[in-house]
Amino acid sequence: MKKWTFGVDLGGTEIKLGLFDSQLQKHWSIPTNCEAQGSFILKDIAKTIKECCDEYGITMDTLKGIGIGVPGPVLESNIVKHCVNLGWPRVAVGTELSKMLAELFECSPEDMRVMVENDANVAALGELWIGGGKAYNSLVMATIGTGVGGGIILNGKILSGASGGAGEIGHIICVDESDVDGRCNCGHKGCLEQISSATGIVNYAKRYLEHAPEVSILRNRLRDAGDITAKDVLDAAKAGDMAAVRIMDKVFMYLGKALAGICNVVNPECVLIGGGVSAAGEYLRAGIEQYFKVFAFAGIEDTPIRLAVLGNQAGIAGAAYMIISDK
Ligand code: ZN
Repeated sequence: MKKWTFGVDLGGTEIKLGLFDSQLQKHWSIPTNCEAQGSFILKDIAKTIKECCDEYGITMDTLKGIGIGVPGPVLESNIVKHCVNLGWPRVAVGTELSKMLAELFECSPEDMRVMVENDANVAALGELWIGGGKAYNSLVMATIGTGVGGGIILNGKILSGASGGAGEIGHIICVDESDVDGRCNCGHKGCLEQISSATGIVNYAKRYLEHAPEVSILRNRLRDAGDITAKDVLDAAKAGDMAAVRIMDKVFMYLGKALAGICNVVNPECVLIGGGVSAAGEYLRAGIEQYFKVFAFAGIEDTPIRLAVLGNQAGIAGAAYMIISDK
């Protein structure tokens, strides 16, 4: 009986792997070797999966397949168009990895099932399976970290889009020009992530503090430590520092507005907030919810806004669940 599935989360510095049956049985990671245009990466993944199979006595008869999340747009659950931080040009990840694994398992590549999707989309699917979205079939997830990523799951399936670009929540242009400085990494101006990513929060806070009249512990921190982090801003806001409260109020307004816009169109069962910044917890969630309700269309405003719970294991879970849920 086929019962085992591997979930792989391919990142720029580390490759996380998980072995699942109905739940996670083992997880580990290996470094990402980006040398030679990332040409060793898939071989390294095939090798470590084979080693785990040998350890657990997993054969072709008991292996369902391998799901993998990659940091770039993906076509047909197989082809990655480009991954800048891996050095990859266009790579048929699914086809290549099937071949490499088939060689190690001495089977036909057609019998080795591999599915590939964008990493942020895969993380959203992981949260739907065993995380903050467990009770639902559809959700929108915003991942707020260094940038703002996202994933949309409809009827239990990832919405990847015609050219693999669906779910790029961070690049919705919704921020007034007066609230951002310079351009987003994508080349546009006014993207959501320019104000609401960890980097965006810090940039906005620094500009705000230049002109604001309020006394603020953030200004002291800038002077003493030379810099501030998004966590500093959130901690100060939670402690009642008025400048920090006003800074976060602006961030919450844009997040609430963008998420309400998405929900007006997609009408998911819930919205999840994940990523490093979501460690701020209930304060962040409630702040976003308050504005979400203001901007959402009638009937949409009660969509539950929840925190993601799987952290950096969402990727391996979602990757495995692509295979497990694929009939
Ligand atoms: Zn952008």
